[in-house]
Amino acid sequence: MSRVWNFSAGPAALPIEVLQQAQAELLDWNGTGASVMELSHRGKPFMAMAAEAEADLRRLLQVPEHYAVLFLQGGATQHFAQLPMNLASPGASADYVLTGHWSEKAASEAAPYVKVRIAASSKEAGYRGLPAVDLASLDPKAAYLHYVANETIHGIEWRQPPPSGELPLIADMSSNILSAPLDVERFGVIYAGAQKNIGPSGLVVMIIRRDLLQREGQPIAKILRYREQAAADSMLNTPNTWGWYLAGLTFKWILAQGGLAAVEAENIRKSSLLYQAIDQSGGFYRNPVDTAARSRMNIPFTLHDPALDSLFLEQSAAAGLMALKGHKAVGGMRASLYNAVPLAAVQALVTFMAEFVRRNG
Ligand code: PMP
Repeated sequence: MSRVWNFSAGPAALPIEVLQQAQAELLDWNGTGASVMELSHRGKPFMAMAAEAEADLRRLLQVPEHYAVLFLQGGATQHFAQLPMNLASPGASADYVLTGHWSEKAASEAAPYVKVRIAASSKEAGYRGLPAVDLASLDPKAAYLHYVANETIHGIEWRQPPPSGELPLIADMSSNILSAPLDVERFGVIYAGAQKNIGPSGLVVMIIRRDLLQREGQPIAKILRYREQAAADSMLNTPNTWGWYLAGLTFKWILAQGGLAAVEAENIRKSSLLYQAIDQSGGFYRNPVDTAARSRMNIPFTLHDPALDSLFLEQSAAAGLMALKGHKAVGGMRASLYNAVPLAAVQALVTFMAEFVRRNG
C-alpha cells in the first residue's frame, strides 16, 4: 500500500485512523453482520450512532441546547439558496460580505430568493484580505448577515467573525469548521459541507439557533424546511448514512486528539511552517494574502516564474505530494492543510519546496 501526502482542497484527506476503522468494520458494523451502508436509518443501531455523532459534535463545539444540529444533504451550494428560502420572507433583503469566490457564489445563489445587499466587499482590492465591517455597514432591517469564514480558493480566513449587531450571523464554515474552538453563541447559523474537515461529500452539517427555525420564510416544500428537518432529527427522508457515520468517527478522532484547542495548536504549527517557507524563499514563492487574514487551512502560493509551474507539479507528484495545483481563478499552487493532514506532510512539502528552489532558483 502506498499513501501519498494529500493536499486536496476537497474532497480532502481524512484521518488515517478513521479510514482504518471504517475499513475494519465495513463488513460487520457494530455486530450487525452488515455494513452501516446496508442498514435502515430507522433501525436502532443507526439511530444510536447518529445520536452519538450529534452528541460528540455538541461536545466538541460546546453547542448550547438552544441550537439544533442538522445532518443534511445538497452540499453547501444548495444551502446558499435554501438559507434565504427558510430565513427571509418574500420581498425581504439580506446582507452579504464578499471576500472571494465562495461568498460571491453564496450571494448569487441566494439572489432569486432574497434581495442581496453587499454590506462589505474586498473585491476591488483583489480579494487579498478582509473588508472592514462595522455596525454602520449593516442594514438593521436585513433578514441576516452572511459571510464565508474561510475562502477555500483565495486562502482568506476570519480569525473572529464580523460584527453583526442584532442580525443573525450566518457562516459558511465549509473549509474551516472544527479547525479551532468556536463561540457558537455568536452565530445564528453555522453550516459546512463535510468534505474537508468532517468526512465524505454529500453531507452538510448545520448548527442553527432554534428561534430561527420558527421564521416563516417562503412557501417551500417540506423537505427544504429546516424546522421540519429539526423536528424529524434530520430524517425527513433517507439521510446520507455513510457520511453521517464517517462524520461520527471523525468527531471521535478529534476528541481523541485532545479536542479543538489541541487541533488548533497543530493547525497553527502546520500553517506557520508553510508560510515561513514561502516568506523566506527570497521571492521564489509568494502568498498574496494580508498576513492577518491568511488562512490556516488553504494556502495558495505562486512561483516567481509561472513557466516552472508544470515542473513543480510534476516533481512534487513524483515526490508523493498530491493535489498541489492551485484553483484556476488564482493560478499557481495551493496546499490545503485540513485537520487530517499531519505535520509530517507539511514537513515533506517544505523540504521539497526548498530543494526545488535549489534546482531552479
Ligand atoms: N463553500 C466553501 C467555503 C467551499 O469551499 C465549497 C466547496 N469547496 C462550497 C461552499 C461548496 O460546497 P459544495 O460543493 O459541497 O456545494
